[in-house]
Amino acid sequence: MKNGICGGCKKAPLVSGYRMCLECFLKEKARSAGIGTSGWIDLYEKFQSQRGRCALTGRDIDIMSAEVDHIVPKCKNEIDKEDREKIWDTIENIQFVTPQANRGKWMGTNEEFGEMCVDGTVVYLQEIQKKRVDHE
Ligand SMILES: [Zn+2]
Repeated sequence: MKNGICGGCKKAPLVSGYRMCLECFLKEKARSAGIGTSGWIDLYEKFQSQRGRCALTGRDIDIMSAEVDHIVPKCKNEIDKEDREKIWDTIENIQFVTPQANRGKWMGTNEEFGEMCVDGTVVYLQEIQKKRVDHE
């Protein structure tokens, strides 16, 4: 690998801290997301449309460390298998999220993630309340 030049395409400059240029990086991400390497531009536009924010938490993300999440997961049994397969690997079914949000959402939908966050917040607030009561 030449210094500072992408080992994949051998022409574009590396993104600082990574071994690939942005285009090659996004091609790899698009391929593993199931939309094919040509979908890298769609991924780039999707990121732009999210204005650098996680689709689930609104936290700041950067395109290199953000994770690609499928809005409707592949293993969502409530949704008809045929419908699921039709939409699963399309750019419309993809969103950029923080790695933490991706872990939390796992095989759920956006709505289930939201409900889980609300439940988690309630438990968290109850714990704080309990601690306050204990101190009184
Ligand atoms: Zn490259």
